[in-house]
Amino acid sequence: MNIFSYVRAGDVAGAVREISGNSAAHFIAGGTNLIDLMKEDVTRPARLIDIARLPLTRIEETRDGGLRLGALVTNAETAYHPQIEKRYPLLSRAILSGASPQLRNMATNGGNLLQRTRCYYFYDGATPCNKRQPGTGCSAIEGFNRIHAVLGASDQCIAVHPSDMCVALAALEAVVHVTGKNGSRTILFADFHRLPGGTPEIDCNLGRDEIITSIDLPSKGFAEHYAYLKLRDRKSYAFALVSVAAALEMSGPIITETRLALGGVAHKPWRDAQAEALLNGKAASTDNFQIVAEAIMRDAKGFTHNTFKIELAKRAIVRALKHAAQMGTRQ
Ligand SMILES: Cc1cc2nc3c(=O)[nH]c(=O)nc-3n(C[C@H](O)[C@H](O)[C@H](O)COP(=O)(O)OP(=O)(O)OC[C@H]3O[C@@H](n4cnc5c(N)ncnc54)[C@H](O)[C@@H]3O)c2cc1C
Ligand code: SF4
Repeated sequence: MNIFSYVRAGDVAGAVREISGNSAAHFIAGGTNLIDLMKEDVTRPARLIDIARLPLTRIEETRDGGLRLGALVTNAETAYHPQIEKRYPLLSRAILSGASPQLRNMATNGGNLLQRTRCYYFYDGATPCNKRQPGTGCSAIEGFNRIHAVLGASDQCIAVHPSDMCVALAALEAVVHVTGKNGSRTILFADFHRLPGGTPEIDCNLGRDEIITSIDLPSKGFAEHYAYLKLRDRKSYAFALVSVAAALEMSGPIITETRLALGGVAHKPWRDAQAEALLNGKAASTDNFQIVAEAIMRDAKGFTHNTFKIELAKRAIVRALKHAAQMGTRQ
């Protein structure tokens, strides 16, 4: 049995004070990932700092015309918020494609960003895993790696980030607000999560003593032309094998701006600005979408059981782009 103490934080400053004072303490929000990790003996907090009652539960307008999502707004409240449905339907769709209604009612926006990989070996304490226990090796590289990465992996870890919400946030170029003992700062979404490199145990660039307070959505929501396509083994309650968030700005049949983010293929939501730029000023045609798909996947490398993801991702990119481009023109 792992003994831990529990405290409920009353404000952000108190939460930061608590986390700074104990290197084995963890925040708990909705608990939908952390409690599982504790039950599986993957994470052993000596102290739980309950942040669920902090006043970070609002969705409000920002001065630059965007929306600020409180870190403790639930995934369900976010997805069904009228302004999100209207202005950021890509985000709403992505969230609703994940987990189950019950889980989305508990899961918070901050927790969603920090949920940990679903690599089977990470959850299995009997097997080596560099992410769970640095330096022990990676069981997935020579093991069963059907759900693993085909882009940006390292010889230390080939896990993928499991979130759907984060794929949409990457495409929308959200900004994460955090507060720590040295004050507050912002982190661009592209810089929030990390590739595994030689330190796969570190998932993101949030400091050990920092708390996520909110996530800002820029004013541009791509509500006219968007698609979130999630491909998985079951229609519900399953993580993505490959997912694509596509957002386009169009002038008639011509694409003027492209945002594409992939989930299920890398240790972080995958963006490739060079490949996206190939579509700008081009017609929305299958041939052009195919060129972008090939470009994004040009450095993809499969392992024994997951090479199928490379072709799957290319087809998903083309399909998502077609859906996004055809919005408003369909009968
Ligand atoms: C069966 C199942 C299926 C699922 N399917 C999907 C899916 O298909 N797609 C998908 O995207 N997700 C899926 N999820 C994951 C779910 O979305 C996450 O578990 C949830 O978003 C985590 O939020 P939480 O508030 O419960 O986090 P918690 O479990 O409370 O915390 C998770 C981590 O975040 C940290 N944390 C939480 N909030 C903050 C904060 N504000 N600042 C700093 N640190 C913080 C905690 O310390 C902890 O390390 C699934 C989960 C389950 C159990
Ligand atoms: S892929 Fe990463 S999480 Fe999975 S076993 Fe290897 S090191 Fe661990």
